[in-house]
Amino acid sequence: MDIVSERPDRRPNRIAVLTVHTSPLAQPGTGDAGGMNVYVLQTAEQLAQRGTEVEIFTRATSSDLPPVQEAAPGVLVRNVVAGPFEGLDKHDLPTQLCPFTAEVLRQEARRVPGYYDLVHSHYWLSGQVGWLARDRWRVPLVHTAHTLAAVKNAALADGDSPEPVTREIGEKQVIAEADRLTANTAREARQLVDLYGALPDRIDIVPPGADLTRYRPGDRAAARAELGLSADEEIVAFVGRIQPLKAPDVLVRAVAEAIRRRPGRKLRALIVGGPSGTGLERPDSLIELADRLGISDQVTFLPPQPADRLVLVYRAANLVAVPSYNESFGLVALEAQAAGTPVLAAAVGGLGTAVRHEHSGLLVAGHRIPDWAGALEYLLDDPARLRLMGERAVAHAADFSWAHTAEKLLASYTAALSGSGRAPAILGENQARSRALWRRRTGVLR
Ligand code: UDP
Repeated sequence: MDIVSERPDRRPNRIAVLTVHTSPLAQPGTGDAGGMNVYVLQTAEQLAQRGTEVEIFTRATSSDLPPVQEAAPGVLVRNVVAGPFEGLDKHDLPTQLCPFTAEVLRQEARRVPGYYDLVHSHYWLSGQVGWLARDRWRVPLVHTAHTLAAVKNAALADGDSPEPVTREIGEKQVIAEADRLTANTAREARQLVDLYGALPDRIDIVPPGADLTRYRPGDRAAARAELGLSADEEIVAFVGRIQPLKAPDVLVRAVAEAIRRRPGRKLRALIVGGPSGTGLERPDSLIELADRLGISDQVTFLPPQPADRLVLVYRAANLVAVPSYNESFGLVALEAQAAGTPVLAAAVGGLGTAVRHEHSGLLVAGHRIPDWAGALEYLLDDPARLRLMGERAVAHAADFSWAHTAEKLLASYTAALSGSGRAPAILGENQARSRALWRRRTGVLR
């Protein structure tokens, strides 16, 4: 009996999620681990709670890791051995896609046929693996790019190196092959169409979320005491990976400029996160910068914090700054607002959705230091307005929950399963057989 054709709106029972280059169990905020890791884990938990089991495949980066770990009820993480555990640069990962794919396919081959109903790949490297898995398993491929090389290369920070052309080629291939694509925002959907030739009717807009149970407003003085921060300073926090793209240097320079304009101003930059990528990869370079600007006593560094400590950072800060050159969404901006802290953000990418200008924070065009210093003054010098923005920020962030993201993902999966994608491209003599199989599975053939 063909169950699928009887239930065209069905949800998947079990999916394979691919995240080759970084584990959802890694501490975000340093190295290659950031918002995507949070996205994968949070949505997996939400999907499992809604009856869709999730198996996440990621590359093992330590010999200590067990082959499989339970991340949450209904969520398994499979640590796939592919290449050396340590020392493999992200740019060299394409060399390990073959062993990674082989192991993913072997895992499935040990199960009953039809074990996974769908494959969801995150970032283009995983898309390359998902493309083959989709063809082999005859299930739909849903792909989320998270970031796009063409977008990143169009707005590079000083000293940042462009993404290699091989990445753009790989992205284009995956975007052409995927049955459905999810985009964080309508803007990203347009970029997929305009820059990568994606078909608009294959794109679902799925906004990411924040953990609203964890990121809630709380007592600022208590948070500062807990973190060892002074009670009577203005604190502007930067949270995230320390890399040129994220531009923590813009915050340090803007704080220096605001202090230069009003000497004696008790203003502190709090930088939370660890090194990633090239250029500004060492927090040392920020320490040196603060030194050169004569404000080393007014800059505090904290290593990457787990979520239960990070909420204290958001509560402790008067403002959170997100000066990135590009940001496909910017989870930090959402989390800060959920905790009641307004956000001063660059007017780029998804930050225009994550932050409501003059309502829950401020969006600044460009990265000119006088503009950023002026924006700091504008917000900090009117505490009543800042408080109001903090209240509105909580309400704004409430629209973005991981539960909502998971529901949107399930709708995308349902569309993929009901054939709103297209038949997998199988070549040669298998083609007729695979098309018939696809028709049987989905009831639809395009
Ligand atoms: N993060 C964290 N601890 C830190 C710094 C960051 O857990 O010390 C998390 C943060 O909560 C957020 C994610 O890392 O969920 C960063 O996501 P964002 O979208 O802001 O940036 P990305 O890293 O994806 O570029």
